[in-house]
Amino acid sequence: MTTHREPLDSVLEAVGETPLVRVHAAPEEVPVYAKLETFNPGASVKDRIGKHMLERMLEEGTVSPGGTVIEPTAGNTGIGLAVAAGRLDLEAVFVVPERFSVEKQQLMRALGAEVVNTPSEDGMSRAIERAHELAEELDGAVVPQQFSNPLNAESHYATTAPEIYDALDGEVGAVVAGMGTGGTLMGIADYAAERGSDALMVGVQPEGSTYGDLLGEETEEGEYKTEGIGTHDVSTNELVDPERLDDLKTISDRAIHEEMARLASEEGHLVASSAAANSLAALEVAAAIRDGDVDAPHETVVTVFCDSSERYLSKGVYRPFEEWQG
Ligand code: PMP
Repeated sequence: MTTHREPLDSVLEAVGETPLVRVHAAPEEVPVYAKLETFNPGASVKDRIGKHMLERMLEEGTVSPGGTVIEPTAGNTGIGLAVAAGRLDLEAVFVVPERFSVEKQQLMRALGAEVVNTPSEDGMSRAIERAHELAEELDGAVVPQQFSNPLNAESHYATTAPEIYDALDGEVGAVVAGMGTGGTLMGIADYAAERGSDALMVGVQPEGSTYGDLLGEETEEGEYKTEGIGTHDVSTNELVDPERLDDLKTISDRAIHEEMARLASEEGHLVASSAAANSLAALEVAAAIRDGDVDAPHETVVTVFCDSSERYLSKGVYRPFEEWQG
């Protein structure tokens, strides 16, 4: 449960301590729990890295008050960084491939940030390049670079992971999380390793993403509408250590679309595509544990509901599949 019961001074203090809620489609014998990251002030899991990275970078002197942070982002990281930047006396500029949701771009601007678009077809690698070009042109500017910054994973090691383990008294059988940067899963994996937990660490990606390249699997690159997870070029995903992955689940946009609708209508979760992918993968892992197909140290599975479907209504997430894809 959210533990904020006292008045707080700033939205930054409301980041984290999100509720862990049961997913009822799971087998009785192996419950699945989802961390509801929509409860963060910027309404996504990325508030955690926004706060943690900027606070640490200010402490370390990587950036100074009055300076600028420039970040390539699909949107949620921009929102999380903008929420934190405004409170910590920093300016924020975000480089966003055009195809990502307009709601996110409007929210970043509302929080006081500047948004620069790059062509969708050039992918995230071009957005990363552009962010570095802009940083060179501007004094006092720094690129936190969520794709390679260990502070990204560290924020989950320091907050998400202990929250999960505390809520379940350490009885975590598997953690299932979609990988965008991979920071969420890698941070939790670091924490699990440190406390001697053998919980399985399972990554999730949409069909068309090529994370399998890291595991020596055959991959087939393709387009997908699921936002926030997956990769087209694993060389950009510097935080992902394949040694830390016990499994990688690949879910189709069609199944994800159906699960988004089911989570809303049957379970009251207004969550977006990456959460739906995580839900399906977590249900698969729970069934495999129940059936004895995989060995897990406990009969529980934890996943993450990363952000809200409201952020994607303009993309037709609750419209028929073809309209969402269109
Ligand atoms: N879901 C959504 C909606 C996201 O924005 C992100 C971050 N890109 C993720 C999942 C994946 O998180 P991570 O970058 O920590 O792997």
